[in-house]
Amino acid sequence: MSSVTVTSRGALRKSDLREANERLLLNIIRQNTGISQSDMSRMTGFAPSSVKLIVDRMRKRGLLAIGEKNGDVPMGRRPLALTLCPDAMVAMGVEIALPVTRVVMADLNGRLLKQKAVAWHGNPDVVLRRVREALDGMIGGLGRKQSLLGVGVSIPGTLDRGTGLVVAAENLGWVNVPLGSILTHGLKTHVYYENNAILSALAERWFGEPGAKVMDNFVFLTAHDGLGTGVILDGKPLLGAYGEACEFGHVTVVPDGRPCLCGNTGCWEQYASDFALVRMYGGAEKVTALEVVARAREGDREALRALDEAAEYVGRGIVNLNAAFNPEAIVVDGYLAAGWDLMEERVMTVLRARMAYRCLARMRIVKARHGSDASLMGTLALVLSGFFTEFQSRAV
Ligand SMILES: [Zn+2]
Repeated sequence: MSSVTVTSRGALRKSDLREANERLLLNIIRQNTGISQSDMSRMTGFAPSSVKLIVDRMRKRGLLAIGEKNGDVPMGRRPLALTLCPDAMVAMGVEIALPVTRVVMADLNGRLLKQKAVAWHGNPDVVLRRVREALDGMIGGLGRKQSLLGVGVSIPGTLDRGTGLVVAAENLGWVNVPLGSILTHGLKTHVYYENNAILSALAERWFGEPGAKVMDNFVFLTAHDGLGTGVILDGKPLLGAYGEACEFGHVTVVPDGRPCLCGNTGCWEQYASDFALVRMYGGAEKVTALEVVARAREGDREALRALDEAAEYVGRGIVNLNAAFNPEAIVVDGYLAAGWDLMEERVMTVLRARMAYRCLARMRIVKARHGSDASLMGTLALVLSGFFTEFQSRAV
């Protein structure tokens, strides 16, 4: 994918302008499938002849399909409906995770076309070389008319978005791993890097329920291998000066509480994450947080007690999230989604006691739409949103 080229005057070059206009129309068709050329002309202010020219060009490249518009048309000729050919352009995603890292290729609608699981290894070099092999294999299998928009990479930790350096991913045991340079050497496509919690939030927004209002202000609370928060504020991920904002898993909820890997004590992650729930459950054998939820459903009193204890802290943390961001929704995944009905009463008791009623009345708590695939879908959302909106602010 070509990047934005800015001339010395800061204006778009002619070729960029053409690409910008194409993407603008592609994005409108994506959001309004079946739209007619005349409606598109009205929405963009482009002359009908310009719209026709761009549409014809994109049809020749196999990006668009055209058909008759459905429904009643009062009189005259039936307008033609434009739709995207979803697999003419594909996105790829890599979710770096334990115990299995996943590599996928998907169409514009996020439908997976290919996927491969990459086994974990203690040496990051080995994992990343395996990932690169998987990427190369899928890219090699692309059809002649398919174009690759880019690769999105999910990292469960702190990263440099420019270079793809993994600064620290404690749960993987990775510190200063040059993921970007290992993964992208000689790769001829754009690679985007992002933190897994932010990606989960992006997936929720980009691949939302068809027809539903797009959420502009919400927090994604992910409880996989710790507790992460991805915050979308006014439609954009909140990153901070150095991209490390919104680490709410490391906000203190218990003064002088349990020590945390981050160096602080009493962090929310130590009381509301998946591994905190497992610790609260105790028990002699090793279980996962989801198994604790399953046992609670079978009436295991210790499991129910552990969920109740965690719910108290989940509630306290949500009070903090509301105070910071005034979100329209908190989206939860992992054991929080699986066991929500068992925890809801306790969480709501905490919220009612500590939050203003007007905020509580408006804030929804919902389960993640993509379940355990949230950050993987987010890698695709990252590529697609990058492609469709790259020129948007300057397109004319
Ligand atoms: Zn911490």
